[in-house]
Amino acid sequence: MNKAIYPGSFDPATYGHIDIIRRSAAIFDELTVSVLDNMRKTSLFSVDERVNILKELTKEFDNVRVASYSGLLADYCKSVGAHVIIRGLRAVTDFDYELQMAQTNRILSDAGVDTVFLTTDLRYAYLSSSTVREVAGFGGDISEFVPPYVAKLTYAKFGKNL
Ligand code: ADP
Repeated sequence: MNKAIYPGSFDPATYGHIDIIRRSAAIFDELTVSVLDNMRKTSLFSVDERVNILKELTKEFDNVRVASYSGLLADYCKSVGAHVIIRGLRAVTDFDYELQMAQTNRILSDAGVDTVFLTTDLRYAYLSSSTVREVAGFGGDISEFVPPYVAKLTYAKFGKNL
């Protein structure tokens, strides 16, 4: 079975993430969307909240699971028997960091894990979770960025009932 991991912060999940999930779920037998539990990074949503949001957004996909992980991604992949990491590329600005991470994970996994990049759908090339947080914080319209369910939860974090 061809298993892949799609790791990230997903704080919160956007239409860009959902697009990458849909496309990679069509390529691999099983896809696990994995929320990084990074204690050094402050986040808007807790890890459990992010996992629950992703579960709701991916419930239509039979071969997609959602989980969280902490520690080294290469170790996590090994522990769940995945040989592929999925990452999305939006622009050249993503490339340097992603290339470095892909090479590091390949070395740390003894060439047991490869990273597969999907280029963003052009509709979402500008989109990031930080933009969503920033716009929502000012009460701006995030309906083009995230599904209504995520928008409601995001506004609530800022004490807004929009
Ligand atoms: P991280 O903090 O690990 O970068 P993110 O949640 O920001 O986590 O992103 C997870 C993955 O999804 C990354 O590979 C990122 O490039 C990709 N991604 C984020 N936004 C988009 C988008 N709009 N289109 C395509 N890929 C995206």
